[in-house]
Amino acid sequence: MEYEVVIGLEVHVQLRTASKIFCRCANRFGAEPNALVCAVCLGYPGTLPTLNREAVDQALRLAVALGCEIPSRSVFARKNYFYADLPKGYQISQFDQPLALRGRLALHDAGVEVPIARMHLEEDAGKLLHEAPGGGVLRGSSLVDHNRCGVPLVEIVTDPALRSAAQAQEYLQVLHQVLRYTDTSDANMEEGSLRCDANVSLRRPGAARLGTKVEVKNLNSFRNVARAIEHETHRQALVLDSGAEVQQETRSFDAASGTTRTLRGKEEAHDYRYFPEPDLPPLLVDEDRVRRLRGELPELPWTRWTRFAEQYGLREDLARQLCAQREVADYFEAVVAEGAATGAAGGAWAQNAANWTMTEVLKELNARGEGIESAVEPTRLAALLGMVARAELSQAAAKEVLAAIWGSEEEPSAATRRLGLGQVQDADRLEEWIAEVLAANPGPVEQLAAGEQKVAGFLVGQVMKLSQGRADPKLTRERLLSSVART
Ligand SMILES: [Zn+2]
Repeated sequence: MEYEVVIGLEVHVQLRTASKIFCRCANRFGAEPNALVCAVCLGYPGTLPTLNREAVDQALRLAVALGCEIPSRSVFARKNYFYADLPKGYQISQFDQPLALRGRLALHDAGVEVPIARMHLEEDAGKLLHEAPGGGVLRGSSLVDHNRCGVPLVEIVTDPALRSAAQAQEYLQVLHQVLRYTDTSDANMEEGSLRCDANVSLRRPGAARLGTKVEVKNLNSFRNVARAIEHETHRQALVLDSGAEVQQETRSFDAASGTTRTLRGKEEAHDYRYFPEPDLPPLLVDEDRVRRLRGELPELPWTRWTRFAEQYGLREDLARQLCAQREVADYFEAVVAEGAATGAAGGAWAQNAANWTMTEVLKELNARGEGIESAVEPTRLAALLGMVARAELSQAAAKEVLAAIWGSEEEPSAATRRLGLGQVQDADRLEEWIAEVLAANPGPVEQLAAGEQKVAGFLVGQVMKLSQGRADPKLTRERLLSSVART
């Protein structure tokens, strides 16, 4: 039987504030367990939360970037449940009056715009450790690390509008870019600062009602989100085909086996006994604040790659690759600007800068396991590309020079001299190589002399080979043609 898969995503994002959302403890990953705690985030009786203004600003900045409507008033609510990592016995969240509503995120590959239902602010819970810090086995017990209690979170909830695992994966990738561009989160899935739950249901094509949904948790990479949805689609289809009904429940994804298993029956909102948080006033956001934050937004990825394609004449897919990481796009633009400063502007220069950034620079970084901040500076890459443009260096030799200057402060011109890699324009050297090639290839020389111009390419190629790529190809061609003409 054919089914249509319906997916909604709930993404939790840790904001990048200096301190937690309701106290002054540092918001930092990787500290000693229980080092970043106080009476407020440990939920001692009698303490009161104080809202972190910067957390609200970051959440609003993200909401504006996602095209959300921002109500002038939102309300914090207590979500009550018991778990060992939640010392207060409730989480301060938002419920029926969230911070932002009705946003959208366009997916270019899928060609769809994903409606975002809501976005709200809340505090994170602590974390249970099932092995000892450093990796020892804990027998029959777990430890609690409260450092994460009170870390500011936003939860971004889509409508059940996604229709495939690929769309879900692309949504997360684009959202990840927005988080990085707006500098609102480091969005590191491995460290848990970006966490995703997927609601998956099936229905017959054309059916108006949604099928029973299953929530899948523990998705710790973009790829695993897609794998979990694929598996869950298959599992639910088998259940429906057998004539049974899908149970509403929460399931956990196991990355090793690629399957999901029952975690617990799905809670309904009323299970949490939400009520307005009595210790915090409603959050009022005036239009001036929203206007100011909108004005401070950086150029977003989709605007930036559209501009790259238009301004620099780049192919759209190359422009999008450059803009996937804000820092890489910045690097590329710095190389372009260096070229413009030396009068080398124009489409060819930008194209070259883009190619070198995406291939040679990223290849070197990947090999070294480093980020773009460790790349050779844009000034020196521009100097290197300038030498290629002026035919002082072949493409192949330039790659060697790049490897040689990486991690040192040597200028490309100095490295070229030191390594003897410069393009040879010296007439005597060129004539020697040409003479050798002509002597070794009497047949082709005869053909060329008889007017078969296409043989010239072959002979120039032989000179390039003999010179190990160092002969200036343009000069070589000119001199080779006139040598043959003289014979
Ligand atoms: Zn605290």
